[in-house]
Amino acid sequence: MNKPIKIAIIVPCYNEQEIIGHTCQKLSDYLKELMARNIISMESYVCYVDDGSRDRTWKLIQEYVKANSLFKGIKLSTNFGHQNALIAGLFTEKKYADCMITIDADLQDDITVIEKMVSQYNEGSKIVYGVRENRDSDTIFKRFTAQSFYRLMSFMKIKTVYNHADFRLIASDTVEHLEKFNEVSLFLRGIIPLLGFQSSCVYYSRSARIAGETKYPFRKMMSFAWKGITSFSTTPLRIIFYIGIFMFLASIAVGIWVLFSILYGHTIKGWASSLLLNLTFSGMNMICLGIIGEYIGKIYQEVKQRPRFIIEHKIEHGN
Ligand code: UDP
Ligand code: MG
Repeated sequence: MNKPIKIAIIVPCYNEQEIIGHTCQKLSDYLKELMARNIISMESYVCYVDDGSRDRTWKLIQEYVKANSLFKGIKLSTNFGHQNALIAGLFTEKKYADCMITIDADLQDDITVIEKMVSQYNEGSKIVYGVRENRDSDTIFKRFTAQSFYRLMSFMKIKTVYNHADFRLIASDTVEHLEKFNEVSLFLRGIIPLLGFQSSCVYYSRSARIAGETKYPFRKMMSFAWKGITSFSTTPLRIIFYIGIFMFLASIAVGIWVLFSILYGHTIKGWASSLLLNLTFSGMNMICLGIIGEYIGKIYQEVKQRPRFIIEHKIEHGN
């Protein structure tokens, strides 16, 4: 039988004081069970990444790390966002474990499939995606927006795993390659499928958040989706090009109509139509400029190459 592998569970936490205690308890019990059954090594652990929480989250993490030898903690200097908190955990812990599993602090994702993830890793998968089988626990609105998002991504030819969020196993030697993607605006769900390597999926049903509130209200969710699209696809720019062609053809047609109007002497009547055209064209122009501006903004962010996260503290049990 294979030697049990060492896993690190990476948990990003932002203002999670209401739920962190429950999460620690569940993860600790589950890890101990897997250890007792010899599925993972006794050195496996959980690493909490505090993403600049403003509540008592970091204080609580410190207490739990002190009390439990299965826990570690990393504190980021300020709020860098979910994706950056994840890579902070992955990049710092990759040298200590065979593979890493990222999971949200609210444990809406079913931790019991971690066992299956580990067995698929043992069978050769470098990446194992956690995929939601159903979204019964989500509101109709969240379900609709999330599914539209995956559809839009596939329309834009961006490779993502349908209904997979950031619950996944990734082998530590694969994380080394992920580090080479040094874009500032990182969108893991789009980048990880680009890595290649053998991958597989495990399926589970997602439960509701039992305490605390979502850190992705509508506005943030939209901005996350837009970030995903503009980081991976230039289709919006192409759509602008098509609009341009359509407008050009339309203006030829209108031009012909104008010429006929002059010939037949109906020129005074043109006020309403010219105003309408003017409004339509300037509106379209503004939208197109806005989209182009978004991409220029993205280039601006990228050329600065600012750090994606800054680690303020690291703590381990016993020191
Ligand atoms: N999170 C984070 N930084 C942020 C926002 C969120 O680290 O700026 C973490 C949060 O603590 C949680 C995960 O990202 O562990 C997902 O957030 P949430 O559960 O609120 O999202 P939802 O499940 O509602 O999409
Ligand atoms: Mg959640």
